[in-house]
Amino acid sequence: MQKYDYLVVGAGLFGAVFAHEATKKGKTCLVIDRRAHLGGNVYCENVDGINVHKYGAHIFHTNDKAIWEYVNQFTTFNNYINSPLSLSKGKLYNLPFNMNTFHQLWGVQTPKAAKDIIEGQIEKYGFKNPKNLEEQALSLIGKDIYETLIKEYTEKQWGKKATELPAFIIKRLPVRYTFDNNYFNDTYQGIPNGGYNTITKGLLDGIETKTGVDFLKNKRELEALVKTVVYTGNIDEYYNYKFGKLEYRSLRFEHEVLEIDNYQGNAVVNYNDANVPYTRILEHKHFEFGKQKHTVVTKEYPETWTPEKEAYYPVNNTENQQKYQQYKQLSLTENNVIFGGRLAEYKYYDMHQVIASALAKTKKEFTP
Ligand code: UDP
Repeated sequence: MQKYDYLVVGAGLFGAVFAHEATKKGKTCLVIDRRAHLGGNVYCENVDGINVHKYGAHIFHTNDKAIWEYVNQFTTFNNYINSPLSLSKGKLYNLPFNMNTFHQLWGVQTPKAAKDIIEGQIEKYGFKNPKNLEEQALSLIGKDIYETLIKEYTEKQWGKKATELPAFIIKRLPVRYTFDNNYFNDTYQGIPNGGYNTITKGLLDGIETKTGVDFLKNKRELEALVKTVVYTGNIDEYYNYKFGKLEYRSLRFEHEVLEIDNYQGNAVVNYNDANVPYTRILEHKHFEFGKQKHTVVTKEYPETWTPEKEAYYPVNNTENQQKYQQYKQLSLTENNVIFGGRLAEYKYYDMHQVIASALAKTKKEFTP
């Protein structure tokens, strides 16, 4: 009856890395995905020579040499450095928060002048132990930046007040007193030459895959085929929401081909203002320094999540974390199911982190 050692549910980075490593150990895997394609959210669609990030901007970045070498087995990377802009009340600002932003905001030219303003605001409005995103932002960067570039974007992105969101989210963004628009602090960065599908292809090379297959709708038959299931879908859905629904944030993407060569002059422009319904516009060709005559842009609209929609971001506030812990405890009692990835671990993983987590889980699985 059992045809494979592992059934990997979900062909995103976690599933693909697990399947790749298991195959290297001589195990047989079947990888399935309910979408019509492999690659999960890193999937790109080639539109007349432009790799379109169908599920939002993905910029690879890591400080971990081993993870960088791991992905470089499957592709080479270009030297793209993410330097988004943010439009707020009719004015463009550089991100992350750096000397360019401070100059645009206050006209200051020196790090000392910027520091004096920011530290003064932190003293006045900051908190010793920030308990939520608003308190954390005020304690990190002061009131002006919070009000100009964070508050409205954040509340639109998450559909919640900044006072109801966990503090850690805003700690993702660097603050620096140099004229440096590099969004990440990481040593290794770039976009795969040929797009992200090259990584998916490399990871799943020689492995049996099936798309358009919904595991939970065909659970019994599929489970009968294998010894162990590697599940990367929503953990609450796996357990039929028995402890209640976890909260996610969904997104809607509006892609458009324009017959002009350059729409916004940058890959990512954020729209801070609450009255603009999208958070970002991506112009994909700039991720790869494209020279095409046309361009493809994507507007990213945050949306309330319901079970029939795609879940993109876990909302890791205290209430959801407590609920997740119940699911996690239950998952630990399973003998033949491994849970991993952003949705199954209810964790705001970046690509490099999810790869590291999949490698750690495979190591554990294959270490006697
Ligand atoms: N953020 C913000 N203003 C911006 C960009 C980001 O306030 O212009 C905040 C917002 O709360 C967001 C968080 O920083 O959720 C993390 O942003 P990042 O760009 O890292 O998020 P992702 O690309 O994963 O959506």
